Amino acid sequence: MDYQSTRDPSLRATAAEAILNGLAPDGGLYSMPSLNGIVFDWKSVLGMDTQGMATEILTALLPSFTKEEMRGLVKNAYTGKFETEDLTPTVHVGGDTILELFRGPTSAFKDVALSMLPQLMTASRKKCGVDDEILILTATSGDTGKAAMEGFCDVPGTKIIVFYPDGGVSAVQKAQMATQAGNNICVCAVRGNFDDAQTGVKNVFAAVTEGGLLDGKGVRLSSANSINIGRLAPQVVYYYRAYANLVNEGKLSVGDKVDFCVPTGNFGDILAGWFAKEMGLPVGRLVCASNANNVLTDFLETGRYDKNRPFYKTASPSMDILVSSNLERLLFLLSGDAALVKRLMGELKETGVYQVPEDLLDKLHADFWQGFCDDTGTKSAIGKVWREYGYLCDTHTAVAWDVAQQYKAANPDHNPVIILSTASPYKFPAAVLEGIGRGAKGDEFDVMEQVRSETGIPIPKNLSGLREREVRHKDVIDRDKMLDYVLTKATQKDWF
Ligand SMILES: *Cc1c(COP(=O)(O)O)cnc(C)c1O
Repeated sequence: MDYQSTRDPSLRATAAEAILNGLAPDGGLYSMPSLNGIVFDWKSVLGMDTQGMATEILTALLPSFTKEEMRGLVKNAYTGKFETEDLTPTVHVGGDTILELFRGPTSAFKDVALSMLPQLMTASRKKCGVDDEILILTATSGDTGKAAMEGFCDVPGTKIIVFYPDGGVSAVQKAQMATQAGNNICVCAVRGNFDDAQTGVKNVFAAVTEGGLLDGKGVRLSSANSINIGRLAPQVVYYYRAYANLVNEGKLSVGDKVDFCVPTGNFGDILAGWFAKEMGLPVGRLVCASNANNVLTDFLETGRYDKNRPFYKTASPSMDILVSSNLERLLFLLSGDAALVKRLMGELKETGVYQVPEDLLDKLHADFWQGFCDDTGTKSAIGKVWREYGYLCDTHTAVAWDVAQQYKAANPDHNPVIILSTASPYKFPAAVLEGIGRGAKGDEFDVMEQVRSETGIPIPKNLSGLREREVRHKDVIDRDKMLDYVLTKATQKDWF
C-alpha cells in the first residue's frame, strides 16, 4: 500500500488502485505518505533516452508496476506520437532555456501526461482484476478534452465521452474535437457554460455511484482529470530531460543547480517539478507564474489562500483557475500532516479561505518563488521575445517568460532558468498575432494562416487542414440530459 488519501492516512491504496479510482473516497488526493521512501538513482537516468528515463521515474513513483511492464507501457504511449524525435526538446532563447512541451498530438502540454494515462489505466485495470470496461467522462473548456480523446483513441477496454460548453470554446478547439477519429470516442456539446458542463459531470458520477446505475452492466466510470496520480507522474520526466539536455550540451555539470519557471493553473505541472527535486534533481527554485488570476502569487507570498476574488477571462485561458487542486498534495507532503490538510480543505470549502502555519510557509518559501503577468504584459512579452530572439511563444509561455525575467531581476543569485512552454502559438493565434503587432482579419483559421505568413513558422500538422476535416460529432444536449446521455452511451455496444 504505497498511497493514501491526503486527508486520512487510513484510506490506503496501491498505485494501481489510485490510478483507477482517481480521487480518494473522502475527496482527498492520493499521495505517497512521503517521497523519502522512493528508491531512485537520479544521476543514472541522465544518460538515458526519454523513454528509458520515463521507465525509471514512473516505476519509482508507481511501484505497482515492474520495470519491464513500465517499459512496454511507455513505448506504447509515446512511440511515433510526437512531432519531434525528442518528446520535449529544449531551445535557447536569450539567456534562458525554453522546454517545449507542446510537440504532441494536440499541440498542448497535456499530451505528455494524457498519452501515458490510458496505458496506466488499462494496466491498472488488469492489476486490480477489474473486467469492466472503463468509461472516461471529461468536461473540458477546450484543451484537456482533445488531449484526453487523442490519448484514449481506440485504446482497448476504454471509452471516453467529452462534454464541452456549446459556444464556449474557440473555433479551432471545436473543430479539433468535432473531427476526432476513433470508435470509442464521443463528443457532446452542452447548452450552458463550462461550470455547467463540469457540475453536470460531477452530478453524473454521484448519481451513478449512489444509485448503482451501472452495477452489473460491465462498465465503470473514471476520470482523466489532472488530480489523478497517473497524470502527475509522467510530468516529472521532462524536468530530468531538460536538465540532461543542458548537461549533454556542456552548459551544466552534473550537480549544478537550475531554476524552473512554470505557467501554472491547477498546480500539476509545477508540482511534478517539485517531485523531480525531491527525487534528487538539483533544482534551486520553482517559480510559479500566474496570469491576472493571481491567487497562487498571493498565497505563496503570504500563506493565505483566498479564492474570494473576481475571476478574469484572460488570453491564457488554461491558467484561469481559482482553486488549484494539486496544491493539496504539496501541503500534505511538506507538512506530513493529513489532519492539517483536512482542516485547511474544509475551510476552503466552507469559507473560500485558509491560512497555513508559519513553519509550512517557511518551507514553501525555501522551494518556490512567485509572480504574475496580466494580458497587456503577456502580449508585450510575445512581441519582445519575437523581435529580440526570433522565437514565437504562445500566451501561457509568455506569462512564464515575463515572470522569469521578474524573478531574475529580483534574485541576482538565481541559477540558469528553464522556462516551460505549454502550448503551440497556433493554439492562440489571435493573441499571438496581436502580440507581434499585427491586426487579425477573418476567422481563427484565417488568423492562423496570417501568423504563418508573418513568421514563417509551420502550422503543426494536427491544426492545419482542420477546416476541411470531416465533422463526426454533432450532438448538442441540455445540461439536465447529461445523465440520460451517459447511461444510454454506457450500455450501447457500438458507437459507430
Ligand atoms: C493546463 C495548462 C497549464 C496549467 O498547468 P497546470 O498543471 O494545471 O498547472 C498551462 N498551460 C497550458 C497551455 C495548459 O493547457
